[in-house]
Amino acid sequence: MSTTIIGFPRLGEFRELKFTTEKYFRKEISEEELLAVAKDLRAKHWNIVKEKGITEIPSNDFSHYDNFLDAAFLFNVVPASVQNLDLSDLERYFALGRGYQGEKGDVRALPMKKWFNTNYHYIVPKFEKDTQVKLAGHKIFDEFQEAKELGLNTRPVLVGPFTFLQLSDFEEGVKAEDFVDSLVAAYQEVFAKLAELGATRIQLDEAALVKDLTAEEKALFLNLYNKLLADKKGLEVLLQTYFGDVRDVYADLVKLPVDAIGLDFVEGKKTLELVKSGFPADKTLYAGIVNGKNIWRNNYEKSLAILEQIPAENIVLTSSCSLLHVPFTTANEEFEPAILNHFAFAVEKLDEIRDLDAIRNGQGEEALAANKELFATERVGENAELRARIAGLTDADYTRLPAFAEREAIQEEAFKLPALPTTTIGSFPQTKEVRAKRLAYRKGELSQEEYDAFLAETIDEWIKWQEDIDFDVLVHGEFERNDMVEYFGQNLSGYLFSKNGWVQSYGMRGVKPPIIWGDVTRLNPITVKWSSYAQSRTNKPVKGMLTGPVTILNWSFPREDISIKDSTLQIALAIKDEVLDLEAAGVKIIQIDEAALREKLPLRRSDWYEDYLDWAIPAFRLVHSTVAPDTQIHTHMCYSEFTDIIPAIDNLDADVISFEASRSNLEILDELKAKNFQTEVGPGVYDIHSPRVPNEGEIDNTIEAILAKVPSKKVWINPDCGLKTRGIPETKESLIRLVEAAKAAREKL
Ligand code: GLN
Ligand code: ZN
Repeated sequence: MSTTIIGFPRLGEFRELKFTTEKYFRKEISEEELLAVAKDLRAKHWNIVKEKGITEIPSNDFSHYDNFLDAAFLFNVVPASVQNLDLSDLERYFALGRGYQGEKGDVRALPMKKWFNTNYHYIVPKFEKDTQVKLAGHKIFDEFQEAKELGLNTRPVLVGPFTFLQLSDFEEGVKAEDFVDSLVAAYQEVFAKLAELGATRIQLDEAALVKDLTAEEKALFLNLYNKLLADKKGLEVLLQTYFGDVRDVYADLVKLPVDAIGLDFVEGKKTLELVKSGFPADKTLYAGIVNGKNIWRNNYEKSLAILEQIPAENIVLTSSCSLLHVPFTTANEEFEPAILNHFAFAVEKLDEIRDLDAIRNGQGEEALAANKELFATERVGENAELRARIAGLTDADYTRLPAFAEREAIQEEAFKLPALPTTTIGSFPQTKEVRAKRLAYRKGELSQEEYDAFLAETIDEWIKWQEDIDFDVLVHGEFERNDMVEYFGQNLSGYLFSKNGWVQSYGMRGVKPPIIWGDVTRLNPITVKWSSYAQSRTNKPVKGMLTGPVTILNWSFPREDISIKDSTLQIALAIKDEVLDLEAAGVKIIQIDEAALREKLPLRRSDWYEDYLDWAIPAFRLVHSTVAPDTQIHTHMCYSEFTDIIPAIDNLDADVISFEASRSNLEILDELKAKNFQTEVGPGVYDIHSPRVPNEGEIDNTIEAILAKVPSKKVWINPDCGLKTRGIPETKESLIRLVEAAKAAREKL
């Protein structure tokens, strides 16, 4: 009987790591204090896993910022600019993640990218010509030792060499193959050290294997593993995959001298089929059967039916991916039992894995009976009127008329904006004061009138400031919103909100995805009040600010009893009603954020359109198809990882799109040019994910780079995302530079 998990959440039950790290960033506590809190958390988490009866406990799944960054640090893949900073190890580590601006130097943060099809973001290391790959860190050893001192023989977790190379960047002139030998040697050194410390098995995470692989990529994988496994230094190797199936390499994988293979039976469409074709008797199969990405209870009968079909002799039950992607525990939630019973967060998933294992071993009858009963009763009814509205939709509902080119001319006339118009993405800093007022209002300590007065005053201040520094299209600042999805969800039927359901998103930041419980309809107008108020305070256009249906869906925990396509269409109709109300209230520019459009894009290209884009893009069009030609529809997307779906983005048929580009060197511009992108476009001119203020001339250069690729009449100038996480001084400084740079560029046109 063996059970395990791929990894555990690391922020802590009450996000202790986040709050402590932020104190450290603000220099309120010392490095030692931060390290001590982290150590306590690790001990606490290991103990929870152990007490739940999980037999194999992972270590090094903890991270102070990001596991991928940990691997870069471990193997010395650190740019010279950071190597040379005269700082402590931990400070240099954070400098890579968030940039550093201080007495000792000025370095930018490394880029950040979406971690496969999740809302987690990893830091992208860069291999440079003079990168010397070698064993340079000790975190993985320290944490193994730390657990050992607590009496636990853990299984250290490390990003595998293939995924490490596949997901890193390479400076021009170097490529992955150049680093195979040095990387293999460094991994083997890790093996040797761990073996020496008493470890028996290491987990190498190779999620990159679930993507489509070219012949070269396959060759790289085999080359790496043939070399690596030639000498395992006495350690057993678990090659762990997740987020899909490994159809491209399965046949090779089972022949490799690894000791165990971890496969995903939840998201891997073909995993069962592959395993049925044969699984070697001398290897252990780690069967990922409990969903690490969603919060619904596991259906034991269904899981057991899958497990029964697996021919492997040695099976360890595990999660489908790291539990990093679900909240910590349902124990602190306040839902009534009839609702709460349907949820399993990380801690409860440990119970499920252990239950399933017990049932397979002829125990756990009670757990099985209770689970059967849960799934036997109807959880939620359906909204007949809404279902009929969706059934009645025709092609015309998905088509905006007149066509884009004609609208562009009409809008040019209507708005008379200068060339290179300036705007921001929506939110302004959510200061302590803003958050305190919102909380007080929620708790009933602040009356509606007092709260409204505060919001009006704050909006007034920022509208005036935007006018003063001469922005062309203003925003109201989103001070009334806690979160771009939760705020909408609170005004939609069918949504539930957890109290403490935080999931790590990037760095120490967490998000709290709401839960789609039933059919979704709009309960009342959501944004009209503050958007029309803001518009009434200025003669310049103020953008209405909405979150799009695909993003609302992707940043919620979706239902599993109806398709995500059907849920998305329900949300689209709700947002459509909001768009039309805003328009009727005189808001002439409406931004519909699709920050997370890319998120659920299938990892395999062959599934992109059929499984996703073919309904996600129309769902967005459904939202804005019936607005007037002179209403301008903007959209915004984060993390520019859409270079390969440019035509689909044009197909959203928005009038303007803004997106993140500054952290990824504006690579996407080439693609916009190549695909003759029609939508007007604001590739972010500076990175808002770091507190760093762009230097004099920096934004000017970026604008120049944009204008080299995109016709000036299509270009907007904006930061690369909303500013809610930033402080006021750095925001104002940066935006003043932005407007100055736009004006200077305008002069030169
Ligand atoms: N309008 C949102 C904001 O400015 C967009 C946020 C996002 O893209 N994540 O905060
Ligand atoms: Zn964004």
